[in-house]
Amino acid sequence: MAAHALLSASSMHRWENCTRAPRFEAQFPQGEASVYAQEGTLAHKMCEEVANYNFHKIDKRTFNRRMNKLREDELYNEEMEHTCLFYGNYLFEKSLTFSEKPFTVQEDMVDLSDWIPEGFGTCDSIMIGSGKIQITDYKHGKGVQVSAKNNSQMRLYALGALKKYMPIYGDSIKTVVMAIVQPRITEDVEEEELTVEELLAWGENIKPIAQKAYNGEGDFNPGSWCRFCKGKSVCKARSENATALEDFKDAVIIGKLDGDDKTKAATDKLLTGDPNILTDEEVADLLKRGADIVQWYEDLCTYALEAILDGHTIPGYKVVAGKSNRTWSDEEAAFKAIMDSGIEETMLYERKAKTLSALEKMIGKKDFEAMVGQYITKPMGKPTLTGSDDKRPDYSEAKKDFEGVVENAG
Ligand code: SF4
Repeated sequence: MAAHALLSASSMHRWENCTRAPRFEAQFPQGEASVYAQEGTLAHKMCEEVANYNFHKIDKRTFNRRMNKLREDELYNEEMEHTCLFYGNYLFEKSLTFSEKPFTVQEDMVDLSDWIPEGFGTCDSIMIGSGKIQITDYKHGKGVQVSAKNNSQMRLYALGALKKYMPIYGDSIKTVVMAIVQPRITEDVEEEELTVEELLAWGENIKPIAQKAYNGEGDFNPGSWCRFCKGKSVCKARSENATALEDFKDAVIIGKLDGDDKTKAATDKLLTGDPNILTDEEVADLLKRGADIVQWYEDLCTYALEAILDGHTIPGYKVVAGKSNRTWSDEEAAFKAIMDSGIEETMLYERKAKTLSALEKMIGKKDFEAMVGQYITKPMGKPTLTGSDDKRPDYSEAKKDFEGVVENAG
């Protein structure tokens, strides 16, 4: 097995959409793991220990010793401990739903090469028994909620787990459950369940796409998946896509016009197909493309900054020091000097309550909710435009008004 496979399960969303990406990306350096990635790695180690202890794979002494070691890491924090315990509890409770005690294994490497050339991956947790195999993935990130439904990475891991354990369990395994635990975003664990046949059929469908991506064939295809591509800042196909908005630069949005103008513009559009008037459908299309452009432009700026610092010349641009705030070089000495001048020490400090989030992080989500849940209110946020696939419920002006009435009445 290669140390870095060209195609990985976690990047599948990218290479299934842009089959040129893997070979294109291979020319750029790997880069260092971000602090978030390092935090995720530490949390995964903690999750592994918690799960192994819950399933009696290690005794309490070993568990405490290993956990104490992990707690010494500078990236450790109390919230991490709570989320890992949540993960361990979920697994344990799930194991009780099997009619017989399941086989369990943590951090298990599986071979994916039957579906993606040279592919392999690591399943956070596998449980097998009662005609079922369950793969569970822990996600420490709290930026974007990852869905377990139609999740290519989870399905690939499940295929790898089936390949590994089918020789032992044979066709007694009938169903496959894939679950994602992401407790920093939600304590609702999302699962997808497929029959073994459905999963194998999905695997057959991705084989030709994976082969094409491995060979570097097909077209560059920019889209939201560019976000984590290593070549995203300098990919020409992405930049050409971004500049395609030029076609619409003189266009008028029908919805922005008033009364008669609106009717006239809509009629003109209908009669003449005037490309300078945008319909709501075109607005929808441009919103999507505009979001890609903003992201692309930010990536371009990041690239240009780093390139200039690396000694490149980007004509017309330079790097300067940004705005900065004054800070004490020796706070203790400064405060002493102020007090020596006769100002009371109490005048130099202010007592400030910690934020709700900081306290929740310190106490842990569950205990925090039990302790002070009844004192927390969350007003409805401002109307915000987002994609229709966003999981949040639609904004309702009526609901907002009603909320106010209930609060006042109470
Ligand atoms: S930036 Fe986008 S279009 Fe370019 S190679 Fe990467 S995924 Fe493909």
